[in-house]
Amino acid sequence: MNAAVLSVGSELLLGDLTDSNATWISARLRERGVRVVHHLAVADDVDAIVGSLRWLAARADLVVVGGGLGPTSDDLTREAVAAALGADLELREDLEEAIVARFAALGRPMAPRNRRQAFVPQGARTAPPVGTAPAFAVDLTVEGAQRPVRVIALPGVPWELHELWSTFVVPQLDELGVTGATVTRIVHVAGRGESDVASVVEPLVADEADVTLAFLAKQHGIQVRLTATGRDPDDASARAQPAVDRVVAALGASVSGLDDADLETTVVRLLADRGQRVATAESATGGSIAARLARVPRASAVLVGGLVVYRDEAKSLLAGLDADLVAREGAVSEAVTRALALAVRARTGADWGLAVTGVAGPGPVDDLPVGTVFWALAAPDGTCEVHGRVVPGDRPSVIARLGSAALDLLRRRLLDG
Ligand code: ATP
Ligand code: MG
Repeated sequence: MNAAVLSVGSELLLGDLTDSNATWISARLRERGVRVVHHLAVADDVDAIVGSLRWLAARADLVVVGGGLGPTSDDLTREAVAAALGADLELREDLEEAIVARFAALGRPMAPRNRRQAFVPQGARTAPPVGTAPAFAVDLTVEGAQRPVRVIALPGVPWELHELWSTFVVPQLDELGVTGATVTRIVHVAGRGESDVASVVEPLVADEADVTLAFLAKQHGIQVRLTATGRDPDDASARAQPAVDRVVAALGASVSGLDDADLETTVVRLLADRGQRVATAESATGGSIAARLARVPRASAVLVGGLVVYRDEAKSLLAGLDADLVAREGAVSEAVTRALALAVRARTGADWGLAVTGVAGPGPVDDLPVGTVFWALAAPDGTCEVHGRVVPGDRPSVIARLGSAALDLLRRRLLDG
């Protein structure tokens, strides 16, 4: 089955809003093995919506429409679907009562204009509102098509759309005979470039007819995405598993996590397994390494804390560095980064001390180009290793990459020991 997503709302075209509904709907359809062939966004204009609906209905078996079901005059999905069908809108009293009841439950009076939301194209199947907008579905016959196309209209508010997906859309997918499931397994790779990873992985998956391979470069590393389709999610997962195992074995220590386990999740787990703790001293990343660790559940078992040693004086005041060292070597230097890692480990009693310095941009600092970064790890045995390089990217990506480099160093040393 082929599907399309139509997002209604002028704000999507003005650049005010990202169409995250289309992304979310695509992911849900893909899990069911439905191929999404088009995403289209359209302004709040009846003719434009009707034109889009017809165009998509000629190319897909199912069109999911998001948005335009609100009470205001620019909410035109109801009118447009009715026009595409050549049907009238009808007031549905059950929906009107449900809307009145929703407002009563919220302790708010219903504005007269909300009555608009109880109108749907004649003969539509409906779902009562979870917010204030009911959803509806119709079968649209377009010229030249062999069978009618199911059009399902959902509210644009994301949480309402999500709720109505399970109660209203999923039963229709079952009824339309959608069977199967698609599962994407993700192997997270740290510290290696995309083409290097691809040259290792591609030959391993080339013979797997059931598995599609994709690479996604993220600020935090590379994702190897292995997608398989099967009878149900377990079957699809099982089909992908041999390829996942081969990729993990071939990439070895470069694999920083699987599926939902990103780099920081893996670091927290490895520390917890060893009963060890880390503390951070961060200049260029401004505390974001500690924040990334703190987002992982049970971080409190392994993250002692961190220093944000942004300006030179903070490196002396908070980490106790010799001001002369900072002046002599420069704040962004191997020597200062090493001293910070050793200092934060000593001051907190953590097993590991992690420190970073760098030039995040937009301009160079003391003749050091943007992207010059150092990361250091003070180890339980009292030794300290420092790495430095120039990483590409703008300010946010330099900060993200530096944080990942530091976390990945810790991850690799935890694997070694
Ligand atoms: P509804 O059909 O529920 O009334 P609407 O499109 O009429 O939706 P809007 O006022 O346009 O309502 O949007 C309501 C909220 O939903 C907004 O906060 C908007 O951010 C969000 N929203 C609408 N469409 C999308 C979309 N395609 N992706 C993400 N968020 C969206
Ligand atoms: Mg809208």
